[in-house]
Amino acid sequence: MTALPIVTGCCAILHEVQSKVKNFSRIFSSLPKGNPSKIISMDCIFCKIVSGEIPAQKLYEDESCIAFSDIHPQAPVHLLVIPRKHIASLAEARADDAVLLGQLVAAATKLAAQQNLAKGFRIVMNTGPDGGQTVDHLHLHLLGGRTMHWPPG
Ligand code: AMP
Ligand code: ZN
Repeated sequence: MTALPIVTGCCAILHEVQSKVKNFSRIFSSLPKGNPSKIISMDCIFCKIVSGEIPAQKLYEDESCIAFSDIHPQAPVHLLVIPRKHIASLAEARADDAVLLGQLVAAATKLAAQQNLAKGFRIVMNTGPDGGQTVDHLHLHLLGGRTMHWPPG
């Protein structure tokens, strides 16, 4: 009997998660389809970090992504979260990458909590030359530990 409110609560949470996933899928289904990205790019520095060929200070890894400290930190906390799979940039992401993109954001949010960024943080995905992207393997910057400025410049 006492389990009933818990079960009802779980159903409500499940329903909310399902509707969020549905919305998320709808948004990303508008991304271009086909032309799946290469799994690995031989001359990509981040692919080499994924394979272990180049060392990095890793703080997190799971089956789809890894996170490590940026070599030139722009804030007290400056981590990069990257997919294991080579995707050159956000502009190259495809509808099939929707879940992966969500996983990157979820990993960054988890890391922000681990890094005690309760006062806030910034997630940046520089895309293309005008976006300031210098490494052509999709990545998300997690910046925190200081007050960020706007516009970013
Ligand atoms: P972006 O300019 O947005 O493409 O970001 C690339 C980031 O990768 C820069 O902030 C660099 O400092 C960082 N970076 C480049 N090489 C390495 C490396 N070997 N280990 C860690 N971070 C790196
Ligand atoms: Zn790569």
